[in-house]
Amino acid sequence: MPTWTLNTEFRIDSAHSIDGYDGKCGRVHGHTYRVRMTAKSNTLNPSKYLKSPDMVCDFRELKWAGKDVEKGGLDHAYLNDLVDFPTSAERLAEYIHQETVKRIPDGIRLTVTIWETPDSWVEYTDENL
Ligand SMILES: [Zn+2]
Repeated sequence: MPTWTLNTEFRIDSAHSIDGYDGKCGRVHGHTYRVRMTAKSNTLNPSKYLKSPDMVCDFRELKWAGKDVEKGGLDHAYLNDLVDFPTSAERLAEYIHQETVKRIPDGIRLTVTIWETPDSWVEYTDENL
């Protein structure tokens, strides 16, 4: 079966604190999050920018979270002001996954990988999609 796998990465410089965390992560601090979006598909699709079915999805739809917070992304933000869940890397990956799925065609298996530090990362996917 033909399979295309798109990969793109971007970084988000943002501050957060983890509500309820008993330790230093409970205080406001910042990260340069590295985010990798992986979109796998057995078919190609049209996009908002290309009417013919020749893409898995548009790279810019995968990169929305890297945009400035004032332009709808998560960059240069205080993450706790934007979401109503504890801002662990696990929950951020889940959130970016959920918000990205709304922007891309059906049938794409999306994986979101977030590095909170250069040597600590989490990978999130949803096997039901
Ligand atoms: Zn942190």
